[in-house]
Amino acid sequence: METTTVEKKCFACQSQNLRHGSIGMTRHTFLPTNKKMWSGYTVLAFVCLDCGNVGYYVGDSDILELRKLDNA
Ligand SMILES: [Zn+2]
Repeated sequence: METTTVEKKCFACQSQNLRHGSIGMTRHTFLPTNKKMWSGYTVLAFVCLDCGNVGYYVGDSDILELRKLDNA
């Protein structure tokens, strides 16, 4: 499972009382516009345990790869 070292906060209430996980039973992915790729990047998620807001993100290594795509 991908992880992130960045401290996440709830977008709605700024709480850091979060439960991390993923979305759905199958792998959900982010596919960059105008890039041909088969697999995409796994979408991770958290739910805020204070207000119930759900947020999405990709892992650190995927962010690094996405930055390289834009600089290529
Ligand atoms: Zn919240």
